[in-house]
Amino acid sequence: MAAQTELFLCLKDNFGVLLHDPASGATAAIDAPEAAPIEAALRAKGWRLTDILVTHHHHDHTGGIEELKERHRCRIVAPEAEADGIPEVDETVREGDRVRVGSLEGRIIDTPGHTAGHVSYSFPSEKLVFVGDTLFSIGCGRVIEGTPEMMWQSLLKLRALADDTRLYCGHEYSEANIRFAKTIEPQNAALLAREKQVARLAAARQPTIPSLMGEEKAANVFLRADDAAVAKSVGLPGTPAWQVFAEVRARKNKF
Ligand SMILES: [Zn+2]
Repeated sequence: MAAQTELFLCLKDNFGVLLHDPASGATAAIDAPEAAPIEAALRAKGWRLTDILVTHHHHDHTGGIEELKERHRCRIVAPEAEADGIPEVDETVREGDRVRVGSLEGRIIDTPGHTAGHVSYSFPSEKLVFVGDTLFSIGCGRVIEGTPEMMWQSLLKLRALADDTRLYCGHEYSEANIRFAKTIEPQNAALLAREKQVARLAAARQPTIPSLMGEEKAANVFLRADDAAVAKSVGLPGTPAWQVFAEVRARKNKF
């Protein structure tokens, strides 16, 4: 039986998401921005929380862990390099490790850059990936603890996933990200198509994720730093991709 997901907003613009395995009844929350919306989603679906898979240590991804752990006795899985900054950790993971949610098997991808120990959780058989604050729809996370080169390498690992992988990220930033991306690729047809789609979803007050990795490859300027047209657009033709990425990221920070 295929995995089920439930997506909802937390805090101001964080996404909460549940991953449910119908075969075993296991349910994981990917990050825990705050307890109440997660509890509400669990109640609405009639699901029991068994695990929390944490992508990184920022409080808007971990603030609900203690309350949820106390109520549900769920297992807390967190990146090894950030376990000291995350409450109630039961199990640490890093690149190449496997994590099970009931009968679903996830694979850990180290995606440092936003934070130094950030991980993403890929479920290849389900064509699902949970990327926290590394990659956003038409955007990427701020490079806070790592370097632009490190972040670019992390994005390349995610870009290597299958085109039909559904991408769940940590924040609803699509509209602002599209406005920025158009300053660099105003003629990108995939980007303009995504703009229309996002406008429709936003007007209907619907989340703009998950997006598909294939769509992101075509439309997300942060995944396209090795495209000659992007390098030319930011005045860096012939420059290594990570430097083009660094320039695009620096422009977004000031946008
Ligand atoms: Zn963060």
